[in-house]
Amino acid sequence: MSEKLTFQAETQQLLDILIHSLYTEKEIFLRELISNASDALNRLQFAMLTNDAVLDADAELSIRITVDEDAKTLTVSDTGIGMDRAEVIAGLGTIAKSGAKAFVEAMREQPESASDIIGQFGVGFYSAFMAARQVDVVSRSFRPDDEAVMWTASGGTDYSLAPADKATRGTDVIIHLQDDAVEFAREFRVKDIIRRHSDYVAFPIYVGDDEEATNKQQAIWRRSPGELEDEDYDSFYKMLTMDFGGAAHHLHIRADVPMQFYALLYIPGSNQPNMFNPRKDPGLKLYARKVLIEEYNRELLPEYLSFVQGVVDSEDLPLSVSRESIQATRVMASLQKTITRRILSELKRMAKNNRDQYLTIFQEFGAWLKQGLVVESGDREDLEPLLLFQTTHDDDPSQYHSLDDYVERMADNQSDIFYIIADEYSSGARSPHLDTFRQRGVEVLYFTHPVDAMLPMGLPDYKGHKLVGVDSADLDLGNIGEVAEADEVPRQSLADEAFAELKNRFAQTLGERISDVRESSALVGNPARLVSDDEAGSRHMYRINRLLDKEHELPVKALELNARHPLMHNLSGMIAAGSDDALAEAVIEQVFETALLQDGLHPDPSSMAQRLTLLMQAATGSERGALDFSSAGASIPEPGRDPDSANMISLDDA
Ligand code: ADP
Repeated sequence: MSEKLTFQAETQQLLDILIHSLYTEKEIFLRELISNASDALNRLQFAMLTNDAVLDADAELSIRITVDEDAKTLTVSDTGIGMDRAEVIAGLGTIAKSGAKAFVEAMREQPESASDIIGQFGVGFYSAFMAARQVDVVSRSFRPDDEAVMWTASGGTDYSLAPADKATRGTDVIIHLQDDAVEFAREFRVKDIIRRHSDYVAFPIYVGDDEEATNKQQAIWRRSPGELEDEDYDSFYKMLTMDFGGAAHHLHIRADVPMQFYALLYIPGSNQPNMFNPRKDPGLKLYARKVLIEEYNRELLPEYLSFVQGVVDSEDLPLSVSRESIQATRVMASLQKTITRRILSELKRMAKNNRDQYLTIFQEFGAWLKQGLVVESGDREDLEPLLLFQTTHDDDPSQYHSLDDYVERMADNQSDIFYIIADEYSSGARSPHLDTFRQRGVEVLYFTHPVDAMLPMGLPDYKGHKLVGVDSADLDLGNIGEVAEADEVPRQSLADEAFAELKNRFAQTLGERISDVRESSALVGNPARLVSDDEAGSRHMYRINRLLDKEHELPVKALELNARHPLMHNLSGMIAAGSDDALAEAVIEQVFETALLQDGLHPDPSSMAQRLTLLMQAATGSERGALDFSSAGASIPEPGRDPDSANMISLDDA
């Protein structure tokens, strides 16, 4: 008694694509079916730990592939966990994986790239339809009371389900080959594919009546590194992650004391998870005595190393327990510690001896390491040597320097380490905050990654040197470094009285938007800068909140003015003459907003356009008085005021 069911829409599309694909390397369907069989065996192994009643408890855990050239069939059988009726419907009637949906999307957009995509993509079970005109699946679950079931599909929109006769545990996938795929009904061809794609599968794969397995089976991580070539590591990585770009680095650990374990760990080549990567969740594959306990274990590594991929296998982990209680064991805690240390010391070694190789890793994963520094203060000492920065030392964005490089080059009398936070290298390099540092030849680190705003919290000092932001209020470099004579600014400072009046005018115009107006001792070529008196931790909350996409209000800072700058001289003259108030106000607004812009804090730069146009008009023409600045209102509201409300300050309010 068979019944007809309809495939989910996505499944229909996927089947349609696969059946009509001209992809030449159809053989990968066998890799996919073997991988499913191996998963089913892994899951059975795990189920046996906790279930007393298992059908065919003594049956060997293996995969057998048989072919029939005359009938043009190929059958992949496993003694794995099996499926009951509901599991067959869930597993084979629908696509659960969002990856497969992404595949269908990608194919719809670029049908011509089918062959590129199929090869990289774990299309799983359905890839059978590249070679099959019909697929039958006969399965019997490991639960002794469940009944066997048969699933059949021929690539149409429906599939059928019927009760089946199968006495033994596991799943048979029977492929009725298309005429142009009969090569897969030949044993030698099948063996060749197994050796190329499935050699490391941990369970024996028998072909035909063979009593000897075709695959090597040995888990690569249990082999000695001396026996393995880079290629072996590379192909295992690709099999594990489907990341065909390859890994940036691998680390193979075999330890006996204080506990026995094997680990094969990879640092991916890119931090962009490839959309086809079936390993979407972070975590390591955890085996206890060769049994896969967990596909994605997150306890073995701290969060900040969750980009590391790989396998950990320990003889010392208890087997007959649940995942939860394994996590609570002392072995796990000490494994975590050992593995973390090994990864960090490997990175440290690389950072020291092979900066170029390390840099490629740092550029992908540096943000994770910095996050670790903030979150796991216990690992700080191990993480510090892993930090690299662009700096004003060479002002070359392609060059990165360590904190030690920096300390070694410190100027005379320098004891602090200076950093500038900027949205990107180029805006940092032009920042007014750097005026005095450049003048004195004092190096500054660029903190240009969004997470860098958090760094000062995790790294208040390094080797006894405080980290100090260049936008600190009242920054006075005193006798640090040396001012080259040619760089001395000849221009006179404004007279005290004139400057006091100028400050007043700024304070009046900008109101609550700034906390104070002061004279700067740090500016050289720039007229103004915004500085902060806050502690490093709270100073950068605005950026941190912005990074976390949280509500954030613009920080209120003090405005420092350069009393030597020609603009300040002109402005002061204008104010004294009382000749052109609207223009003076507009200039003050623009000075403030330019400083915000230079710090990457301006919430809406395009709002300045109108005022800038008027200022240019004023600068180029003589009829200033005729300009109507009232339409070029201030774009930065006072704290607590809604920018969209009528309360918004505009020039004519002042
Ligand atoms: P994936 O294996 O990536 O989840 P597939 O499309 O290959 O995707 O398989 C879908 C589901 O069908 C599997 O998750 C599994 O539950 C079930 N399945 C497939 N093959 C087998 C098998 N040989 N034994 C048991 N279950 C299987």
